Amino acid sequence: MKAYVDQGLCIGCGLCESLCPEVFRMADDGLAKAIEGDIPESSEDCAKDAESQCPTEAIKVEE
Ligand code: SF4
Repeated sequence: MKAYVDQGLCIGCGLCESLCPEVFRMADDGLAKAIEGDIPESSEDCAKDAESQCPTEAIKVEE
């Protein structure tokens, strides 16, 4: 499972990093970045929570 952040939609609210810090980090530009590669299994649930709770629907979590 992989996570993606659409940089054009992210508003830098920080919610995803709060919910799932192993997968999402706020970068120097103030926008969220997802880790490259597969999400650790232990973080799959929180990554999906972040996807559903992101206010701008910037996050996609896919198989
Ligand atoms: S929750 Fe959405 S808008 Fe907020 S920082 Fe994460 S990707 Fe950006």
